[in-house]
Parts: sequence; structure tokens; C-alpha cells
Amino acid sequence: MDPQSSQRTSGSVAMDDYLEQILHLIEEKGYARPMDISERLEISQASVTNMLQRLDAEGLVDHEKYRGATLTEEGHRIARAIVDRHELLTEFLRLFGIDEDTIYRDVEGMEHHVSRATLNAIRAVTESLRDDPKLLAAVLERVGR
Ligand code: MN
Repeated sequence: MDPQSSQRTSGSVAMDDYLEQILHLIEEKGYARPMDISERLEISQASVTNMLQRLDAEGLVDHEKYRGATLTEEGHRIARAIVDRHELLTEFLRLFGIDEDTIYRDVEGMEHHVSRATLNAIRAVTESLRDDPKLLAAVLERVGR
């Protein structure tokens, strides 16, 4: 097994994206309907249904055909970690005044590839810069912003 994979929060890029959006939908509406997931991810409803069945089989989602999906305890734990990682990377890039569209695109790419060790380093840097406005100003100066 790839040593990295034991540190990953779930199985694949696609699964991460599903779990992330399912958690967002559950927090907004109480459950995640295939139609809403399909819209958020810009993926066909047939593909959404397939993935929900797979996530259900892996014990991460309870999928009821017409009502939609909820997360199991394990699914919720993994989805929470995915959303937290997205938020940390977003917070990190916002320190540099990068525009929100660019941040979103970059985070959607970065979040799937970042190891726990790198994430811990980014968290430490984010907190250090946030807690030290002088340091942040010096860094921004170097970045040219
Ligand atoms: Mn994300």
C-alpha cells in the first residue's frame, strides 16, 4: 500500500468531492438528494446514483433511492475532514489576497493531493501569519501584494 494512502481521508478524488458536497447539502437541508448532488458537482444523475450505491456499499452513506443520502458516522467523520481541509487551504490562500475564484479552483485541486504532513505545515504557517501581522506584512511585501 502506498504510504500516502493511509493518510488520505478517503478513497478517491471523486469520492472526496461527493462526500464534501453531501455534507454541505446535509448541513443545509438535512439530506442530500441525487438531483442536488448532480447540480453541485455538474455530474449526471446516473453517475451520482452509481456513486451513492458505491458509498453505501462502503458504509459511508445511507442511500434511500427517492429521499436521498445521509452520511454514516464513518462517512461523516471523513466528510468533516475533507471540508476542514478545504477550509484550511482556503484560509491559507486568503492571507495573500488572492481572488476567491482562483482560491476555489486551486483549493479544489490541492486538497486532493496534500498529505497530512504538508497540511500540518500549512496550518502552522497559516496560524503564525494570522497571529503576527508584521510577519504577514513582510511576507506580502515579498509576494508583491
Ligand atoms: Mn473542496
